[in-house]
Amino acid sequence: MIAHADAAGVTASRIRQTYLDRTGRSAAAFERAERVLAGGNTRQSAFWRPYPLTISKASGCHLWDADDNRYIDLLNNYTALVHGHCYPPIVEAVERQLRNGSCWAASAIEQVSLAEQITTRIPSVDQVRFANSGSEAANLALTIARTVTGRDKVLMARHGYHGSLIEFESGHTNRPWTMTYLADYNDSGDFRQVLAEHGDEIAAVFLEPVLGAGGIIPADRDFLLAVMDATRTAGAVFVLDEVLTFRLSIGGMQGMLDIEPDLTMLGKFIGGGHPVGAVGGRRELMAAFDPDDGKIFHGGTFNGNPLTMAAGAVSVAELTGGRIERMGALAERLRAGLLEAGNSFKLPLTVNHVGSLMNLHFSAGEPTPKAHRGADDMMGLFHLAALNSGVFIAPRGLIALSTVLTEELIDEAIDRCAAAMSDVADECSPTT
Ligand code: PLP
Repeated sequence: MIAHADAAGVTASRIRQTYLDRTGRSAAAFERAERVLAGGNTRQSAFWRPYPLTISKASGCHLWDADDNRYIDLLNNYTALVHGHCYPPIVEAVERQLRNGSCWAASAIEQVSLAEQITTRIPSVDQVRFANSGSEAANLALTIARTVTGRDKVLMARHGYHGSLIEFESGHTNRPWTMTYLADYNDSGDFRQVLAEHGDEIAAVFLEPVLGAGGIIPADRDFLLAVMDATRTAGAVFVLDEVLTFRLSIGGMQGMLDIEPDLTMLGKFIGGGHPVGAVGGRRELMAAFDPDDGKIFHGGTFNGNPLTMAAGAVSVAELTGGRIERMGALAERLRAGLLEAGNSFKLPLTVNHVGSLMNLHFSAGEPTPKAHRGADDMMGLFHLAALNSGVFIAPRGLIALSTVLTEELIDEAIDRCAAAMSDVADECSPTT
């Protein structure tokens, strides 16, 4: 669809050229990175072609790149920075903690404070264990399930994402791993069938209540209930992955839908901008961590480190119901503005949206789940055009708002995105 592929197959695009022209220092940093970092980066979801920006500072709702270009941050580190960058109460808590030491091989009261907040907010969670990423939380949830069931395999949704553990790769890459069964999201019949055929091998069923990397596609409550029921009938453990969605209500998506999974995975904003993951559930299941019993040996040098815990306790406490609602209203405003702009430039834009999370899709019709790494041509082009216009979103179109955004900034972001859409429309028109 996009014009100007030259003989070498390199797309000669004005948008791309503008990006190259304004980000010379990021290009130079990438050249250095390619020599010493495999693939020139160390996080797939923070990589895009021709090269990712090198960010040199961040504050509140803004990022600055190495060339001092400023961006309105609408991604907030893939949802982790629910209060934006350098949120003063978090900075104060971390500075205070840093002066008292950053980690030690013993307990810290900050772990208890954060765990108390989580268990108060999520009724299905009596107890938690902390880790350093959502991927580790998935590993831990699977370890619990394997330990209590004596089974090995896992069932998840096609295009689901539970982090970078090998067992969960199939969901977003479609690479078949023998330990993983896949079924279609929002199709309880498909899940039931896999459980009926292979239930005695399956330790756990993992589901996101909103398909995140797959494009912000919410689950039907009935689907979740039916899969949870079939999972329990098969004697497996039902794991709800709320790494992205805990920010959507005080009790996460399970609170909104009134469902009680066996285990819940958490991450992202519960670390207040620091590496974190957690798994929680009923006391009986979490008893697998009983140190005297030795069923699960769960180590981790930085698990529950006081810096993350102090930042996370503030991040969770400050995410009030009022702020969640306000972010939802800002998201509505942004969505309406983006759709209007898309319409005016005759772009096939749809915007999926649940609370403060949304995903842009440049394709006609109802968006369907898509591969984690798959940004189609027009989305990739819009991503670069948005960066050129000073708006930072994910290459695949994910947007996650923060509590510190204002209506004025949302309106500015809409104007800037409209300019980017105009550039995309120019470049994609049949006459160019
Ligand atoms: N689960 C979901 C739903 C996610 O979106 C992610 C990351 O984006 C993860 C798990 C993995 O978390 P992390 O990147 O902290 O390993």
